[in-house]
Amino acid sequence: MAYPCPQCNDQSTQRISLMYDLNTRRWKDHLGRAHSSQSDLASKYSPPQPRGYFWRGLAVFFLSLLGSAFARAMSQELHMPLLSVALFWIVLGGSVYWLIGGAKSYNAKVWQPAMREWESLFICRGCGYTFVPRCGTTSDIHPDRAHA
Ligand SMILES: [Zn+2]
Repeated sequence: MAYPCPQCNDQSTQRISLMYDLNTRRWKDHLGRAHSSQSDLASKYSPPQPRGYFWRGLAVFFLSLLGSAFARAMSQELHMPLLSVALFWIVLGGSVYWLIGGAKSYNAKVWQPAMREWESLFICRGCGYTFVPRCGTTSDIHPDRAHA
């Protein structure tokens, strides 16, 4: 089904996700690494990116190494092994909470709705206007329920 552009009434509108796909070139180099490149139009309307976990995981790893080195030094210098163990877990738990938990809640609260919106966006090829098509009233979607 085509949705006419609300701005100029042009019929040549296209789903942004489809336009993005058609204007994205993907290939693998001789080492098998994946690459992609977009046309200017596609990169302008690229999908929202989720927060990745790789660098955050690495940061947690190094923070916990740092925490354990610090805790070991503390237990040797100050002879407070319990406190140093507690410190280590606070550093580890805190970094997991802030780095991993922060990314997780960002992805759930910000990225997923943004992605859903991006997937329902249309672009007009006549004037470049982007819009989310609305189906009018609910009776258009559920004709049997409208009379209930
Ligand atoms: Zn238009």
